[in-house]
Parts: sequence; C-alpha cells; structure tokens
Amino acid sequence: MQEIVDFIRQLYNSSEFIPLHAPVFMGNEKKYLNECIDSTFVSYVGKFVTQFEEMTASYTGAKHAVAVVNGTAALQIALTVTGVEKGDEVITQPLTFVATANAIVHAGAQPVFVDVDRDTLGMSPESLSDFLNKNTSFNKGVCFNKITGKPIKAIVPVHIFGHPCRITEIVEIARKYNIKVVEDSAESLGSYYQGQHTGTFGEVGILSYNGNKTITTGGGGMIITDNEDLAKRAKHITTTAKVPHPWEYVHDEIAYNYRLTNLNAAVGVAQMEQIEEILENKRKTAQKYQTFFEMKNAVDFIKEPINSHSNYWLNAILFNNRNERDAFLKYTNERGIMTRPIWQLMNKLKMFKNAQTDDLINAEWLEHRVVNVPSSIKILN
Ligand SMILES: *Cc1c(COP(=O)(O)O)cnc(C)c1O
Repeated sequence: MQEIVDFIRQLYNSSEFIPLHAPVFMGNEKKYLNECIDSTFVSYVGKFVTQFEEMTASYTGAKHAVAVVNGTAALQIALTVTGVEKGDEVITQPLTFVATANAIVHAGAQPVFVDVDRDTLGMSPESLSDFLNKNTSFNKGVCFNKITGKPIKAIVPVHIFGHPCRITEIVEIARKYNIKVVEDSAESLGSYYQGQHTGTFGEVGILSYNGNKTITTGGGGMIITDNEDLAKRAKHITTTAKVPHPWEYVHDEIAYNYRLTNLNAAVGVAQMEQIEEILENKRKTAQKYQTFFEMKNAVDFIKEPINSHSNYWLNAILFNNRNERDAFLKYTNERGIMTRPIWQLMNKLKMFKNAQTDDLINAEWLEHRVVNVPSSIKILN
C-alpha cells in the first residue's frame, strides 16, 4: 500500500494533502468575473449564460443547451419535459450518486433499479431488457409496470465516472417499449460512445458543473437535447414561465427559478475554453495510473470500455474484496491521500429501500470493491 501512496505523491508532486478532485482555474475565469461585476450583470441577465449554452451545444453536438442552477435540477427538468409526471415510474441504476434518484422523485416519479455492467459501471442492457420483459405490459401504447400498475415513463442510465455505458443498446430497448431515455451525463462531459458525445443519444441529457466535476461553475447544470420544443419548454419552466413582454410580468404556469447566474456562466465560459487541455491532462493521469496498476496484480484499474472515449473524470480501482478495500481506504486517508469508496447502492438508502429492483448482482459486486483515487487536473508549469 505504501507503494501506491508513494506513486500518488509522485504523480501530484506533493507531500501535502491530496484531494480527490480539486477545481483548477488557469484561464479567463477572473477576467470574465470582473467583466460581470463591472457591468453589474451578475444575475440572470448577461451575455455569459447564452455564450455558455452555445459553447456547450457546439462542443457536445447537441442542437440545444439550456443552463440551469445545478445538475440535479437539470435532471428533474429533463424528466419533466420528456413527460414524467406525478405517479409515474422511472428506471435507473442503483450504482450512482444520490442526485439521480432524488431528481426522479423531484419530478414526481418513483425510481425502479436495474443492474449495471461490471466493465462500464453503467446500466446493463440485459438487466433492463429482462426487467421490462418480465414486469411490463402495454396499454394504449404506454408501458405499465404489472406489479405496481404504474406507467414507466423514462429510463435514466448514468455514465459513471465518465465511462460511457452501452447507451445505443439501451436506447434501442427503450424504443421497443416506447419509453424515453434521459441520460445522466453529469459526470461525462468530454466522453464519447462510438464517437458521439454522451448525453446526446437519449431524448435529453444533462451535465453538472459542481465543484468536483471535470469543469466547474461553482455550481451549475445544463440540459442538452436535439428537440427544439423540449429545449424551449425547459428554458420556460426554469425561468419562472415568464411570457415575453416589453414590461409586463405575465407568467403562464407554476414554474421554477432554476436559472444559472451570469457569474456562474462566466466561469463556465472560461472553463469551456480550456476543455481540450483539461481532458488531455486527465487522460495522461489515467494512463499513468493504468500503467502503474497493470504492474500490480492485486488491484485492477478501471479502463474506458470498448467503443468508448472516457473523460476519466474520477479514476477508479477495483479490489478483490471489501476487507482489502477498507484497509486501503483507511491507509490512504490517514496519510493525507483522499480516496473514496463508490456510493452505497440507492436501494439500500432508507429513502429508496422499498423501491422495486431487478437482480442487482453486478451492482452489489462492485459496491464493495470500487475506490476512487485522486484525479485532479495537474497544473502544468
Ligand atoms: C454530480 C452529479 C449529479 C448532480 O449534479 P449537481 O450539480 O451536484 O446537482 C447528478 N448525477 C450524477 C451521476 C452526478 O455525479
């Protein structure tokens, strides 16, 4: 274990505390923030929000991008605009950050959990297909859960740690059951499946710019879609449903104030300007980890899946069992190297313990084995 500690210290050239993923601001962040302050456009009006949306659409290849206050809100609204309503069900994976499941509930639905693949950590098309096959029936073109009697309106696969899941197969299965796919690509800005950016396969995708993500706006999120109507609707209901008028306040439904501020967007624009550099930097770090762990048979490094290009947001390693994992977590954290286990499965949290699940063999297998190791962008000098 000391060897791993030494390797990480050498990698980050540091004898101090090494965080899991610290943000790095090496571009125009301060300049654009100053512009915001000097112009007094710090809140919801200002050029950076539009610019950030345009840069994101162009970078991901989505036709439309709508900036919002955070990734959780982005996912909630993405589900709402695709038709998820109170009383519906949404299928997702149990191995994810809690925001995925929370957003499903915020949108009025209940989550159902199907298994993941061991190599991608993302939703398993086999488990999804089996679950739908066993448990659903059609009524007037809508897929109903036979056990609960509720309509299943969306499927939310997650590209965990930036590793793309088998998204084309998931989209195909969803189409067969007339269910919309909303991709939780919060962790996968800069990740591609078969050359196409993650988040652009389903009806809608979302991104997060939380402080620990690949790029950050302090806090922020983005809804991406090719569907113009959905994009317009997302913009409308995240901005208090105000009907355009030169001076009157007319609002045509109960909506949300989920806007991203110009200040946050200013940081986002500056970060997007450096995206290629950031991704290259992260990839180099991942390659070093991979080479290092390939020499150690005790621990496996989780590589980008086939047909994929991962952003390597958080590097992850796989232990043989829980005891080895726990020993590693203790050893590293006690020595100032931040490492973290993968999340507890959602269906084990008290809020979701009654949720319906498929067999979760792989998710359970991974839950006690995966650990994230420091993955910050290194400042090159
Ligand atoms: C970060 C994250 C989110 C939520 O994003 P916030 O901006 O923190 O609200 C959603 N899903 C996943 C998988 C995430 O990692």
